[in-house]
Amino acid sequence: MEFLTIDLFKAMLRQALDEIKKREDEFSQLDAVIGDADHGTAIVTALSAAVKAAEKGAEFKSMLNDMGFGVMLETSGSTSTLLGALFLGMADYASGIALDAAGIKTMFSGGLANVMKQTQARIGDKTMMDALIPAVEAMQTFTSGDVRELFKAAAMAARQGAEQTINMKANYGRARNYGERSIGYADSGASSWSCMINAFAECIIK
Ligand SMILES: [Mg+2]
Repeated sequence: MEFLTIDLFKAMLRQALDEIKKREDEFSQLDAVIGDADHGTAIVTALSAAVKAAEKGAEFKSMLNDMGFGVMLETSGSTSTLLGALFLGMADYASGIALDAAGIKTMFSGGLANVMKQTQARIGDKTMMDALIPAVEAMQTFTSGDVRELFKAAAMAARQGAEQTINMKANYGRARNYGERSIGYADSGASSWSCMINAFAECIIK
């Protein structure tokens, strides 16, 4: 596949929301280990706002802007700040109604750069960044122009990154206070963001 059309991207977002809803309780239970057990609700609420805002989208840049502002205006908390930042950062580097592999890479690296302005967390801190950073990096090192394979590579990297959080000690935010007790469980945010990126790939592959 050579291009990601706007309609396909909307289908990917809907599939991501469906998959995240299925695992909502799991994400909240993971958050309960080192947090306040609200992550399932938070990510479903935030992504729902983005999907709703995307419905009328006719062009990548304005649609991603609407999604980012939709998330930030309709929901609150760190999950919505980070997801909103992703879409707003993507908006800065996307345009038109179809993107090739190079355009997708640029769009996601713009999204990651904007998320990095919102959080100091990096790889190894046991946060959603452990899924997002490897996924976007996998895209950047991918050399073929096949959009399907591009998302597959990102999904695999996100999954591996999320799995690696199981053995990590929380090193960011309030979760740091839990120290050793955080080891043995995947991070809720890394798990949900990995779920989202994997749903993107599954939607595009079928
Ligand atoms: Mg929480």
